[in-house]
Amino acid sequence: MGLLLLRFPKKLLTLLLLLSACVQTTQAEWFSRKEPIMGTRVFVEIWQDDPERAQSLLQQAMDEMERINLLMSPYQDASELAKVNRDAALAPVHISRELFNLILKANHYSDISGGAFDITFASVGHKFDYRKHIRPSAEEQKAAAELIDYRHLALDPKGLTIAFAKPGMRIDLGGIAKGYAVDNVVALLRASGVRNGIVTAGGDSRLIGDHRGRPWMLGIKHPRGEEHVITLPLSDSAVSTSGDYERYFEEDGVRFHHIIDPAKGESAHELLSTTILADHSVDADALSTTVFVLGAEKGLKLVNSLAGVSAILIDRTGKVRYSDDLVDPTMH
Ligand code: ADP
Ligand code: MG
Repeated sequence: MGLLLLRFPKKLLTLLLLLSACVQTTQAEWFSRKEPIMGTRVFVEIWQDDPERAQSLLQQAMDEMERINLLMSPYQDASELAKVNRDAALAPVHISRELFNLILKANHYSDISGGAFDITFASVGHKFDYRKHIRPSAEEQKAAAELIDYRHLALDPKGLTIAFAKPGMRIDLGGIAKGYAVDNVVALLRASGVRNGIVTAGGDSRLIGDHRGRPWMLGIKHPRGEEHVITLPLSDSAVSTSGDYERYFEEDGVRFHHIIDPAKGESAHELLSTTILADHSVDADALSTTVFVLGAEKGLKLVNSLAGVSAILIDRTGKVRYSDDLVDPTMH
């Protein structure tokens, strides 16, 4: 009996010693990195216990963002997308399966939105430089608007080629590529065992797990100020915000900004900001741009028809609108 009593605490002691040794070697903490890539701010933060491994994962994350930028940026002469814009009106251009599939995904959002999302918006969009306040003449803009129609993209899934039906057409994946890149980085981090983290590229973020026992807190900025109007507690989800305040200039009281309504060939003006919650960033990204173009009524109708997708919109009067699955906090 006495022996047993003596033995028990000894075992417990060993266990305690073992435990404290574990705690010492697993000094986990948050590691983060911020870099300008894809014309925006990329931020990655992960919870890791090995600093060297953490730095290596952050580097892999940035490398993946850079890889996608070099593939899909319209501003990189050597990118596949730039080649398409140069040559696809002359002859079909062979592209990678990866770019082809993302174009198909973009066209899916064109199909379900009646063309509100349309990567050929760039036929007009490329004539603007929002930083330099450059815009086309009214006639030039009108002529270019005639070229917007994703159905004028000839896609051959066997040969992996793309061709433009009309000369002067352009494509740009700016409304979906950042979300795609964020998903790829999340997949890479998760495959490496990351259980808590955030990956952000401009207005697109995706959360891996929670913030160590609490949700992540993500703010929606006031479209005309710096403060956050809404803070969302989120875990394991994707969130994307599109606004008319990111890239724009004003002339004679008209705001020229980077989200183009394909039907009109000019900036969409019904909403100031759209935030979409979804499982994947690629969907949240495409839908935030789509709903911005569609406006509140049609946009909410589309979101309400999609499973696992929510929306928070701010209209021109500053009023906040929610999809049916969310509870408007001011209604209580
Ligand atoms: P950002 O995070 O760059 O603000 P958004 O998700 O708000 O991106 O999308 C805006 C970008 O989408 C524009 O910069 C442009 O590249 C692209 N875009 C603009 N209008 C459309 C449209 N009607 N359909 C698809 N893409 C668009
Ligand atoms: Mg978007």
